[in-house]
Amino acid sequence: MDENAQKTLDRALEQLSEWKASFGEWEQDDSLSVSEKKEQEVFARLVQRLKCNFPFHHPVYAGQMLKPPHPLTWAAYAMAMSINPNNHALDGGPPSSEMEKEVLADLAHFFGYGEEFLGHLTASGTIANLEALWVARESHPDKKIAFSENSHYTHHRMCGVLRVEGIKVPLKDDGSFDLDATDPQEMGTIVVTLGTTGLGEVEPLDQILPWAKKHGIRIHIDAAYGGFFRTLKDSGIIDGTCWKLMEEADSIVVDPHKHGLQPYGCGCVLFKDPTVGKFYKHDSPYTYFTSEDLHLGEISLECSRAGAAAVALWATLQLFPLEEEEGFGPVLKKCLQAAQNMYELISTSEKLKAYKKPELDILGYFPAEAETTSEISEKSKAVFDAGMREQSFYLSLYKIPAGTFTQLHPEYNVDSDQVTILRSVFMKPEQKAFVKELLQRIEKAI
Ligand SMILES: *Cc1c(COP(=O)(O)O)cnc(C)c1O
Repeated sequence: MDENAQKTLDRALEQLSEWKASFGEWEQDDSLSVSEKKEQEVFARLVQRLKCNFPFHHPVYAGQMLKPPHPLTWAAYAMAMSINPNNHALDGGPPSSEMEKEVLADLAHFFGYGEEFLGHLTASGTIANLEALWVARESHPDKKIAFSENSHYTHHRMCGVLRVEGIKVPLKDDGSFDLDATDPQEMGTIVVTLGTTGLGEVEPLDQILPWAKKHGIRIHIDAAYGGFFRTLKDSGIIDGTCWKLMEEADSIVVDPHKHGLQPYGCGCVLFKDPTVGKFYKHDSPYTYFTSEDLHLGEISLECSRAGAAAVALWATLQLFPLEEEEGFGPVLKKCLQAAQNMYELISTSEKLKAYKKPELDILGYFPAEAETTSEISEKSKAVFDAGMREQSFYLSLYKIPAGTFTQLHPEYNVDSDQVTILRSVFMKPEQKAFVKELLQRIEKAI
């Protein structure tokens, strides 16, 4: 945490402790006290344990989808957590529940939904998608849910949990959905991913939307990863077509704990039609007694949820509005540019080749000097290991079916079912400048 955020947190905690003390003097019970020696000893061990992490905070880390929360976000989270409100019901945290509703209204507005919508924060993108698919099943109980092979594996898995049949829509070479290979009559909902987890691909909502409307099929957008890139829909630096159509979807998932500067424990699901609230209807005798207002627990599959997550996101959106020119836009623009810079640098490299041009901030690439797909895999793994061993860079590995790979790179001989390539997720704006150094380090390792 930087010095300013630390001061902000100290000041805010002090002000909160005045409020806590205003209820009268009290002391923590002896049974909860710990000797200073023991406290220090445990925390010293804890520091050692935590240092075994990879440096997620640093630009050298360009591996998985891990983004440091903003220091002021943790300050807000820590402050709220010292009270520990529960956003299950209004009683559990009136201000944090209010803030959750405000944040949801901001996000719904951001995605183009009207005043009337339904939605709430969740523990994760997985839970948010589970709810969206559950509503999909309840809306069309006898129909199937479709998703592409590039969609997150959670959709297939959650169809199993929900005991609804999931079908994979094949993709054509250009990334469009092969809709002719499906039977629209049997489909209730189709999942469209804006920003796939693998390589940040934007699935063709513009192609699917008119077809789905014609056949009365619902659309669920999984924008767990990509959602915040909508800030750039009019910027001209990404193709805004699909991002502009998001408001047409029946439900949307976005993960503030991915690109939203939040700590883990913050997903979000939104439904365009608020009447889907009927599926959640229940009558708990013990939770709701103080207010006629909507209780978030009435429209959520989860019960207890961290009020601090809502507070942190609320504070973040006050500090970083969902705008192209201010707040999120400039941050995401730099992440995109990091991937584009790396792509361009690699195109002049003799040692590396890019798998394909990145649509967002995720890039796939591989050591060029190889004859066969299995050689590419071996060399990619060796580079991946070397970076970690020397602690000089951190990448991830990504597997692609060999047939898909050679469509773009026919010069390599196929001698394996899959090809493992290197993958970098550039979620930190600092990486825009750092990729040059990163590439040098990777080349050196090769
Ligand atoms: C990350 C991700 C998920 C799963 O979300 P979690 O927050 O990890 O549970 C689902 N879909 C997509 C597209 C994702 O990127």
